[in-house]
Amino acid sequence: MTETPCEHCERMMQPYLDRVLSVSEQAEAELHLADCEWCAKRYRFEVKLRQYVRVAASEPMPPELKEKLAALRTPLT
Ligand SMILES: [Zn+2]
Repeated sequence: MTETPCEHCERMMQPYLDRVLSVSEQAEAELHLADCEWCAKRYRFEVKLRQYVRVAASEPMPPELKEKLAALRTPLT
């Protein structure tokens, strides 16, 4: 139980990107991302990576997914 906030954030990153966290877990993750430059950078990298993987698979991105991604970026400024 000696997990640091960043380790916790790291563990939450994939489920957060998959939007499968509970509302409180998601809020917690967003709070940390807004506060921690390292995790915010890592998060932006993961988002780009996912976008790249999607493009590489020549899977067109639906507009609602683009909106979701844009909404995710907003709290990071
Ligand atoms: Zn962090």
